[in-house]
Amino acid sequence: MNYLLIAISALFPTYLFFSFQILDKTNFLLESASLILLATIYVFGRTTLEYTVKLGLLSLMVCKSYEFLEEVYQFQTVINSNAMVDMLVGDVLSLLGLALIAYGIHNMFRRQRRMAEIEPLTNTFNKRAIEQLSKKELERSLRYMTETSMILVDIDHFKQVNDIFGHQIGDRVLVIVAEHLRKQTRGYDLLARWGGDEFIILCPSTSQSEVKEVMTRLQKALSLPMENAPFDVTLSIGGTTVPPLAENQFERLFSQADKALYKVKNNGRNNRCHFHDLSFDV
Ligand code: GH3
Ligand code: MG
Repeated sequence: MNYLLIAISALFPTYLFFSFQILDKTNFLLESASLILLATIYVFGRTTLEYTVKLGLLSLMVCKSYEFLEEVYQFQTVINSNAMVDMLVGDVLSLLGLALIAYGIHNMFRRQRRMAEIEPLTNTFNKRAIEQLSKKELERSLRYMTETSMILVDIDHFKQVNDIFGHQIGDRVLVIVAEHLRKQTRGYDLLARWGGDEFIILCPSTSQSEVKEVMTRLQKALSLPMENAPFDVTLSIGGTTVPPLAENQFERLFSQADKALYKVKNNGRNNRCHFHDLSFDV
């Protein structure tokens, strides 16, 4: 069916060309070639192109067909008899087609960019995205001279969840923890899955006392709305805060938060620690 579209778009003008009197042959051939090209793009892009792009291509195909039909002497009386139809099919439809294609391409790029930034299981940012976005936030913090905080969250004994209840339940726990972290943080905090069972939250314009409050909220017990999984999920949380500095802020934040997290893990887990205390809050 799809290749038939290309065949028809090539054969129909060829038939007209040899069977009828053509007024402007160059124009006729150019419009026909455009139609074949549009049909080919449509057919080869049928699985990858957005619906709006395909609709735009179809509009342009109708437009191009109309334009080469205009060059057939025998169709003159029918085609050129109505100025309104001429304007609608020749100009408005062409503009609409181009607008749909531009809108569709813009959407496709936006979606692809988003897909490249997102970790699909938990729908949080991935490692690469958080590093890039953090860089921008840290540059902003330098401009506005604000402090920036970072929180690292790691699920305790997560391997056991997988081992005892299976990977599917493990995946579900990761999703629930991500939702919990999202709910307990502000809209402009950046949440990412750093890898495995570890999450990272960058908190722009957040002081030490503020981030400690956030960490306390995150520590709250997680309720798992799952049947056949009678276990508690606990989190180990490490955090830190840095003043606006010019260099290697991300690495500095990460290494400080990681040290704090390591301390929590070493001291029995299910707790939180801010790098500047390196002593426990509870
Ligand atoms: P700790 O309290 O020291 O953090 O212990 P842990 O068992 O949580 O730590 P460890 O790093 O040994 O285990 C992390 C586990 O996370 C191991 C791996 O099988 C599991 N894991 C990593 N990615 C995924 C995933 O996408 N889905 C599931 N279900 N499990 C994952
Ligand atoms: Mg863990």
